[in-house]
Amino acid sequence: CGIVGYIGHRDAYPIIIEGLKRLEYRGYDSAGIALYNGKTLHVSKTKGKVSDLEARFETKASKHGTVGIGHTRWATHGVPNDINSHPHTSNSGDLVIIHNGIIENYESLKQELTARGYTFKSDTDTEVLVNLIEDVKLQENVKLGQAVQIALNQVIGAYAIAVFDKNKPEEVVVARLGSPLAIGIGEKDNEFFIASDASPFLEYTKDAVYLEDEEMAIISRKKGVKVRKIKDDSLVPTYVQKLQL
Ligand code: GLU
Repeated sequence: CGIVGYIGHRDAYPIIIEGLKRLEYRGYDSAGIALYNGKTLHVSKTKGKVSDLEARFETKASKHGTVGIGHTRWATHGVPNDINSHPHTSNSGDLVIIHNGIIENYESLKQELTARGYTFKSDTDTEVLVNLIEDVKLQENVKLGQAVQIALNQVIGAYAIAVFDKNKPEEVVVARLGSPLAIGIGEKDNEFFIASDASPFLEYTKDAVYLEDEEMAIISRKKGVKVRKIKDDSLVPTYVQKLQL
C-alpha cells in the first residue's frame, strides 16, 4: 500500500502514476487517483494493478490537474473492489482523501455520522474519516487543516493520509501515525510532492521533510510546508533533509 501526491504547476498525473509504480513493491490490491483541474474533481479508481488504472486513464479519464493524490490499497475494511478503492470523497463531494492504515473506532464514528444524515458508498473506514473531517469542518466552521486535526483527535488507529478540498486547491493536508509519509520540496516554483517513501519524487528533488508519528502538515502552494503536532497546536520546526543517492 502506498500514497503519492503532488501540488504545483505541472500536471500531477504522470508524477502520481509513476510514483505509484515505484511503490508497487509495498503490495496492494487496488489503485486510484484524484485530480483537480481547476474546475472539476476527477476520481478514477479500480481493483487491480496500477497498469489497470493507467489503462482506464488512457480511455476514459482526464489526466489534467496540477493538484492530485494517488493510492495503492491493501484492503483492511471492505473487500477489494472499485468502490472500496481510494480516493474517497466526502458527502458534499468537496473533500477527497487517501489513507493507508486502519481507523479502529470507525464503526462508532460511522454510527454518529449516519445519525447526523451522512451516507456511505463504501465499506471502508477511510470514507468514515473523510466525512468526519467534513462534519467537523462544517460544524466548527474551521479551515481544512484544523478540521483534520480535530477529527484525528477523535480517531483511534494508524494512518498516513493526504486530503484536499476542491474549493481550496492551493493546499493539501497530510498526517501520519504509524505509516510513513515524506514530503518533497520542489527546487523552485512552489511545488511539493507527497509519498510513502522518497522514491516517487527523487527525480524531481533531493529536499525532503519526513513527518514523525503524531505530526501533520499543511502543504500550501504559496506558504510552503507547515508541520504541527496533531495532539496540541505546537508548531514543529520544518526539518528539510538532503537526500543522498
Ligand atoms: N483501511 C483502509 C481500507 O481498507 C486503508 C487500507 C490501506 O492501508 O491501503 O481501505
